[in-house]
Amino acid sequence: PMPATFHQFPYLADNYGVLIRDDATGRTACVDAGDAAAVMAALQAQGWTLDELWITHWHHDHTDGMEELRDKTGCTVIGPGYKGGLALSFDKSVTAGDTFSLGETPVEVWHTPGHTLDMINFYLPEDGVIFTGDTLFAMGCGRVFEGSHAQMHESMDGLRALPAETVIYGGHEYTQANARFALSVDPGNAALIARAEEVDALRAEGQPTMPTTMAAELATNPFLRYGDPAIRAHLGMADATDAAVFSELRTQKDNF
Ligand code: FE
Ligand code: ZN
Repeated sequence: PMPATFHQFPYLADNYGVLIRDDATGRTACVDAGDAAAVMAALQAQGWTLDELWITHWHHDHTDGMEELRDKTGCTVIGPGYKGGLALSFDKSVTAGDTFSLGETPVEVWHTPGHTLDMINFYLPEDGVIFTGDTLFAMGCGRVFEGSHAQMHESMDGLRALPAETVIYGGHEYTQANARFALSVDPGNAALIARAEEVDALRAEGQPTMPTTMAAELATNPFLRYGDPAIRAHLGMADATDAAVFSELRTQKDNF
């Protein structure tokens, strides 16, 4: 099968949107729609036209441009089939296990609640790419607003099962702050120390630190490393459950 082409662009203070173009058919989607003007500018720069919007969750910084984009482009809006905090009208609502395709590119829908209850992620198994919204970030995870820590832990545990080479696009550039917290709980991790330096260098040049990969996250992201003996020793939780270690990490990050 022909691969898809991806184009990530920044919007608002620290958000990322991504355009996805199915190379076989030219059909194009955008993940999230917080800022219609930013999406239109990205499309114009690529010379692409929008066929679909894929919405990860109801938060304003991911949806405020949705109606304007539908009006301007006639795109089909695909969003979570779970109740969110806004009355949004999707053309197609999808839930865990649903599949659809962008042209010839297959897409799987995952449910990763915790940040919000409606959060869905879009996985492109043939491309080895996942869009994690505000669930999984480089070296971090989303703040748990609506779900429980246990729910977010389950979501992270599901994502952890993805192949190591999976490319991960998340919704925000939070990486430097995430790295500072990660170093506070995993200070002896050489891969983390090295990555934090790389990230500082990228940001100093105004470069994005995403997408990331599952391999990089498994090596450096404390919210996927709740089984790690050094982190557990640091927390004094050597024998605690994975869910308890995750919850303690999330609580510490909230207060960091
Ligand atoms: Fe959010
Ligand atoms: Zn967000």
